[in-house]
Amino acid sequence: MSIATHINLLKNRRTKIIATLGPTSSAPDQIRKLIKAGVNIFRQNMSHGDHAYHTETYARIREIAEDLDRPVGILADLCGPKIRTGKFKNGNIDLKNNETVIITTRDVEGKPGLIHSQYSALADDVKRGDRILLADGILELVVDKIEGTEISCTVIYGGKLGDHKGINLPGVKMSTPSLTDKDKTDAKLALDLGVDFLALSFVRSAADIIELRELITAQGANTQIIAKIEKPEALEAASAILDAADGIMVARGDLGIELNLEQVPVAQHQLIDLARKKFKPVIVATQMLESMIENARPTRAEVTDVAYAVTLGTDAIMLSGETAVGAFPVEAVKMMDRIARQTESYLWQHDAYSAQPADSKSATVMPVWDAVANSMAQMAQNLKVRAVVVISQSGMSAATMSSARPAAPVVAITGRAAVYRRMAMLWSVIPIVSESAGKSNPNILAGQVILDKGLATAGDKILLVRGLHSDSTLNTPSVTVLTL
Ligand code: PEP
Repeated sequence: MSIATHINLLKNRRTKIIATLGPTSSAPDQIRKLIKAGVNIFRQNMSHGDHAYHTETYARIREIAEDLDRPVGILADLCGPKIRTGKFKNGNIDLKNNETVIITTRDVEGKPGLIHSQYSALADDVKRGDRILLADGILELVVDKIEGTEISCTVIYGGKLGDHKGINLPGVKMSTPSLTDKDKTDAKLALDLGVDFLALSFVRSAADIIELRELITAQGANTQIIAKIEKPEALEAASAILDAADGIMVARGDLGIELNLEQVPVAQHQLIDLARKKFKPVIVATQMLESMIENARPTRAEVTDVAYAVTLGTDAIMLSGETAVGAFPVEAVKMMDRIARQTESYLWQHDAYSAQPADSKSATVMPVWDAVANSMAQMAQNLKVRAVVVISQSGMSAATMSSARPAAPVVAITGRAAVYRRMAMLWSVIPIVSESAGKSNPNILAGQVILDKGLATAGDKILLVRGLHSDSTLNTPSVTVLTL
């Protein structure tokens, strides 16, 4: 058997790309280049930058996306109860193995032997014997004793510790709410601006999502919520969290500190499967092309990691430091695009995107949406259609069709600009905004859109799927095979 490495690429990438904005990517010409290179969603990270910066970059993205006529979504990422070190007198300190160090919540500057943290409940939440991880889990302390605001620890793995580095408490039940006062202020700004998604960090239960949903509703918005799964409690409650949220992010940075590292790929796999079963988008995030922060080319292992996430069928893959502070933001997006397209084309040619045969012996009845989406994916494959078209009011039909992962692209036509941008997150979905959606003859509209976009030519077949409703009692699914 010979191994073929040349693969004809699919015209449309199925997996979506999210790029985090930061100092090296927020200038207008960079945003333009990033969109052209393939960014589908920009992430505004509320852990960094002030409100003036986020307001300005938000307006820039909207203006440039409109100018380029591209469906680009914006996700504001709320930092949640992230615990950090405070400032050090000289910018950093050295921690030596076996030495004693004090963590204090008093408002003081750090110095050798003393670390400040802003998290006031720290001394109440930890107990003797707990591990405290610092700076992305690279440094490790163990708690010896607690006196008032002072936590005395022994350094297990030392090294350099700088200002505002992350502190993680694996296995410790934190008493602080997931939605902090800062999150509430940041969410208000993001909602005023009109972002498409709000991501919440360090979610522990569905109640955290419900609280954020109430805040969104109280502000008269219906912005989608992405729950960041980065704590063991969130893994345990993943199903309920997914039911309450509109999608999830596998936030591998903090997840890899809170869990043993070797457990992260398995958690990623299970979370992707779970999200797909619930027709909700899933994002794989963090360190995907990390070395491109400094180098123009990634490592082989990073390329394989991106390809693995694509193979598992994630909706989106995310760049963090690579585009926020890296020296090669546009190259990182182009690289991600190339890896995704190469992997998807291989999977496509090897029938990985064919509908899964239903288990005829299974005693459970499939939900109507599932059954329709699965049958459509099968039909699309049997008839070799060029596209599956849905006319989507809320984006729900698009999400349902997308989660069946059909071989043909899903073209989703909507009359609402907000739904158009939000569908940019969904696997394979090509969002189209048209004032005729829901008003004119859907068969004619579907045919016109497909021809206009050059997705098919006269004589080709497409499928038009209609009648999926978020209220299951109103479901009247129908499918039309159209020959253009
Ligand atoms: C993560 O921890 O992987 C993550 C995406 O969150 P943040 O970048 O906010 O730390």
